[in-house]
Amino acid sequence: MPEESDCIFCKIIHGEIPSAKVYEDEDVFAFLDLSQVTKGHTLIIPKIHQKDIFHLDPKIAEKLFRRVPVIAAAINEAFHPEGMNLLNNNGALAGQSVFHYHLHLIPRYSESDTFS
Ligand code: 5GP
Ligand code: ZN
Repeated sequence: MPEESDCIFCKIIHGEIPSAKVYEDEDVFAFLDLSQVTKGHTLIIPKIHQKDIFHLDPKIAEKLFRRVPVIAAAINEAFHPEGMNLLNNNGALAGQSVFHYHLHLIPRYSESDTFS
């Protein structure tokens, strides 16, 4: 499986860096974001290293996005948010800081919601 040796998310997939796993299958891995913008903030990543949307193989994208409703439902069941934002930054200028494609799932709550 192609990977980059200096990529934090490749290391997470391979268990070299610990993470709180939310979901895993053959192609996709999901885990809690370290920063927890809100409770249950989750990142979904392809297991294959692709740096952003401009390098994301459409076949991989299809597999990843097919899992989004399942993962969102798991977050809903665990954290009971009242809404959820999906967010994806591509390129440093757009706010991307880890260059392994990832989709943020950010649960929203009416109370104690720090995301704006
Ligand atoms: P970006 O800014 O690239 O859209 O999002 C990268 C996200 O990765 C950030 O929200 C950041 O908190 C998260 N992150 C960076 N390093 C780690 C890590 O080692 N573990 C986890 N779980 N999240 C990380
Ligand atoms: Zn990677």
